[in-house]
Amino acid sequence: HSSSQIMGIPVPKITMQNTVDLIDQVITVKQAELFHVVTLNPEITMSCQHDTRLRAVIDEAGHLTADGAGIVMVSRLKGNPLPERVTGCDLLIHLLERGTQRNWSVYLLGADERTSEKAQEVISKKYPNVSVVGRQHGFFEQKDEPRIVAEIAALSPDILVVALGAPKAEFWIHKYKNTLNAKVAMGVGGSLDVIAG
Ligand code: UDP
Repeated sequence: HSSSQIMGIPVPKITMQNTVDLIDQVITVKQAELFHVVTLNPEITMSCQHDTRLRAVIDEAGHLTADGAGIVMVSRLKGNPLPERVTGCDLLIHLLERGTQRNWSVYLLGADERTSEKAQEVISKKYPNVSVVGRQHGFFEQKDEPRIVAEIAALSPDILVVALGAPKAEFWIHKYKNTLNAKVAMGVGGSLDVIAG
């Protein structure tokens, strides 16, 4: 895919539909490495200008999507437009829809306990062929992380949904990329709160 440079970050010019197809392909044709999807919002883009650790995480991601209307607007002003916004929340919902056709498994990491429980309930009801194989609220301590990572790895979900806020989710996925045993992982901001209603 060709890309549009947004403050020095090459963002692929791809639609929601093609993003879902890309992730579908990654899940179907099992890759050796976890595929990290970053939904790029203005905050992350700005932080990347001075935060070299975050910039490295973004550079190593498998795919970037244009979250944030500002990102799409900048691409248009520069005459190299991104086709449309692909927000974390919309993308998650599209993936759950695709997942019902493919019987995908998901693990929900993040949000508070009530939200996490409710999100699992809603997903199970609305997307019956998607299995929520596990979940963990997002207010754990660092000492709990080995247990959480081991649990996710044992369940080997198709998609690891990380609702820890940005850029915490991005750093977390990057840190454990090689041990999570998930096919795809994606930071989704407050999407579980949206799904839980
Ligand atoms: N969150 C979490 N643990 C934390 C901080 C935040 O699980 O330590 C959750 C929070 O409950 C919410 C989600 O992360 O469900 C996104 O939070 P926020 O809207 O602040 O992040 P953003 O949308 O800016 O990425």
